[in-house]
Amino acid sequence: MITRNKLDETKIEKRAYINGEYVWAESGEVIKKTSSIDGSDLSGIAACDEADVNKAVAAAKAAFESGVWVDKTPEERKNVFLKLADLMEEHREELALLDTYETGRCFKNYYNDSIPKAIECIRYFAEAIDKVYDTAIPARGTEFGVIIRKPLGVVGLITPWNDPMVVDSWKFTPALLMGNSVVIKPAEQSALSLIYLAKLTKEAGIPDGVFNVVPGYGEKAGKALALHMDVRAISFTGSSATGKLMLTYAGQSNMKRVYLECGGKGPYVVSDKCKRIEEAAKVLAANMFYNEGQICSAPSRVIINRKVMDKFLECLKNEAEKFVPGNPFESENEVGCVVSREQFDKVNSYIDWAKNNGHEVYQPSLTKENYPNACSIKPTIIMNVNNDEKVAREEIFGPVVCIIPVDSTEEAIKVANDTNYGLAGALWTDDLNEAKLLADKIEAGLVHINSYGNDDNSAPFGGIKESGIGKDKSAFVFDEFSYQKTVWMHFD
Ligand code: ADP
Repeated sequence: MITRNKLDETKIEKRAYINGEYVWAESGEVIKKTSSIDGSDLSGIAACDEADVNKAVAAAKAAFESGVWVDKTPEERKNVFLKLADLMEEHREELALLDTYETGRCFKNYYNDSIPKAIECIRYFAEAIDKVYDTAIPARGTEFGVIIRKPLGVVGLITPWNDPMVVDSWKFTPALLMGNSVVIKPAEQSALSLIYLAKLTKEAGIPDGVFNVVPGYGEKAGKALALHMDVRAISFTGSSATGKLMLTYAGQSNMKRVYLECGGKGPYVVSDKCKRIEEAAKVLAANMFYNEGQICSAPSRVIINRKVMDKFLECLKNEAEKFVPGNPFESENEVGCVVSREQFDKVNSYIDWAKNNGHEVYQPSLTKENYPNACSIKPTIIMNVNNDEKVAREEIFGPVVCIIPVDSTEEAIKVANDTNYGLAGALWTDDLNEAKLLADKIEAGLVHINSYGNDDNSAPFGGIKESGIGKDKSAFVFDEFSYQKTVWMHFD
């Protein structure tokens, strides 16, 4: 079934959401772009700049200071978010359609996976907020102290295009549940679902000014938000290059807190002591070729013992057939398009580089019906890669996996850690001692053993090195959106 027919393209809301109202950018500017599905014009979303960001931050600050949200009890805030989750469930199809329309990713993925994950995330944090405790100091004579979490005030959130509703809800949910107000700058490639969500937040009971959306270009709207003197923290997901700019902006303005979830080049170590080679290949394909590989935690470097490589590759090639891209609006398809023509050209330039530099490159021969000129890329396996090569060092952000053969566990550890990134990784082995050693030694915020990607909201997500600072998900995140205040009391 082609779900596109359910979307009335003339009625899509494209304005910013500031102080409880949909408004155009003061300049009247709009974002200009084309669809990666069929090349049609998708221009028209408000392109906010500093003037609009200033308005949104002022509204967020006024709402925070008024106490309209922060003075609610945790239970009251929880109930608002549970209602929001219900509303998202009611409007799940619209949210999924908007994301597909704008990003080219399959409707099936959004409808069955992303939107439900965003809803689950909202329920997880909502259910947690009235169960996290503050701390009392150890009792002593006349002195008594408590250490409490206080909200920061206005929090800025800058988000990417690769999984809009999921990453947005990872950030705005804990930030708001802590009592903060937020200003969100979605990616210029994927703002529509968040703009749509804004009206649902109002219906759920989030007061005007507490939740604001300022779509626009990164260098204008994003920069103005990150430099703003009244923004107390920025939580960002995107490229490492832009992440580094966030640190600069904080230094140039008010030393705001900066949390960064940036790129990755995940190691996927397959040992010769792994007995489930077929399963290892299947899980890799599901995580690497899903969403056209546009996932920062994608396990894009397979570091495999030569002894098991042939069997693994045979299975991986078979699995790749399941991820041949097709029309993203066709409700049965698993894979659609990459997000833009630029992204399509960038990913293909890496594939061409590999072909021109003596690598065997495998892609399934099967093709599926799609729009003419759709920016779809077939699952791609680059054989016999050396970890020093460009395709192993740079984040490709496409369905492209590098096969790096090794001869020992020690070599696997060395190669796994020889990267600027440290977001997520995996190891496959049936030897308990080897599993323990690899899990200890791999430098990453998240290491899977004999699996990949089945962690849930309880697992903190974020890395080290140039993969970033801080975490999304899990109740630890409440600490990032609050500061610690000690209240020390004296009794006679
Ligand atoms: P990607 O390569 O995944 O598009 P980016 O880092 O370019 O990652 O974008 C992630 C988010 O950061 C987007 O919302 C984008 O608009 C924003 N952004 C890009 N450049 C800047 C910048 N100079 N200042 C602030 N935000 C930016």
